[in-house]
Amino acid sequence: MVKRIAILGSTGTIGKMALEVISSYKDRFEVSGIAANRNIELLGTQIEQFSPGRVVVVDEERCSLLPSTSDTVVSCGSRALTELASDPELDILVVAMTGTVALEAVLAALRLGKRVALATKEILVSFGRYVMDALEEWGGELLPVDSEHNALHQCLHGRDISTVKKIILTASGGPFYKKDYRGARPEEVLSHPTWNMGSRITVDSATLMNKGFEVIEAYYLFGIEPGKIEVVIHPQSIVHSLVEFRDGSVIAQLACPDMRLPIAYALLYPERGTDIIEDLDLTKVGSLEFSRPDFERFPCLGLAYETLRNGGTATAVLQAADHEAVEQFLRGNLSFEHISEVAASAIEAHEFKVRPTISQIREAERLAREFVKKGVTWKKYSP
Ligand code: MG
Repeated sequence: MVKRIAILGSTGTIGKMALEVISSYKDRFEVSGIAANRNIELLGTQIEQFSPGRVVVVDEERCSLLPSTSDTVVSCGSRALTELASDPELDILVVAMTGTVALEAVLAALRLGKRVALATKEILVSFGRYVMDALEEWGGELLPVDSEHNALHQCLHGRDISTVKKIILTASGGPFYKKDYRGARPEEVLSHPTWNMGSRITVDSATLMNKGFEVIEAYYLFGIEPGKIEVVIHPQSIVHSLVEFRDGSVIAQLACPDMRLPIAYALLYPERGTDIIEDLDLTKVGSLEFSRPDFERFPCLGLAYETLRNGGTATAVLQAADHEAVEQFLRGNLSFEHISEVAASAIEAHEFKVRPTISQIREAERLAREFVKKGVTWKKYSP
């Protein structure tokens, strides 16, 4: 039976790769819907190529530039994402939109028992408890697309988390693994060594904030305590993560670094595809190195562990403050070395809530972004 897929964030790096994977499985998958924030030019091309029945443009102003046709209904605004996700005909929802705008869509899809292939880690960082509660209560399916968590899903292979001693997330280390980052320009940061990714995640990889978010993501996805989540630097990006079981066995997943593999895995699971990416030749890789991360040089990582231990609104504030700080850095308004400081002060300044509602989390996110913007305007953190 052909499975119907909707992609939220179809014009981004992961979204485009998801469409590529779907194209090579035409007998298995069909694109029933696509959504993007504002890139209507590319959406137009994707509509021609995949003729999805439904299209959503989140940015309402840009949306009016893309008219509906007899085959494709175009809807505007973030609420339309939830409608798209609630389509009774839909089988799989791919979520690859930056930020937490697709939260309600994720919850709606899980409530209807659909599979969600989740690439957007912000949703788990800010609203992990809500996503996991919905999953438990309604019995949808959540497949991680983030390469490390996808690797962990493969290593765990359905085994109970009580058999696990610890999980080990690998990190490439980013461009400043062995290099001074003071005064780093956006162009320098964006030339990331191993993975091809969007600009926010590339900056987050350079500060190790991305790895911090992944620790939080792993905590929710696998129900494992923070003390059992370890991070190691692995510059070759061949081992995508590992699980150490209580009996002493360590199982790792290895592959060439290419996001099309975790995407295909999440779409095809429990089956496996064929020839999704280039074969791994270990003799060409030669050696695999591992080292401990430097928490002093990369304070964002420790900050993420700390917010995870505090829970409540803290992780959402970290996520939102970082989002704004990265944007300000990319615009040249904030220095690279100040990103962690700005995020830490936003957490300190916020009104902490232990069991916040969804709207309280949204409000905490909004205030955190405002806090960072103000700090930047007052030239508190100038480059
Ligand atoms: Mg990752």
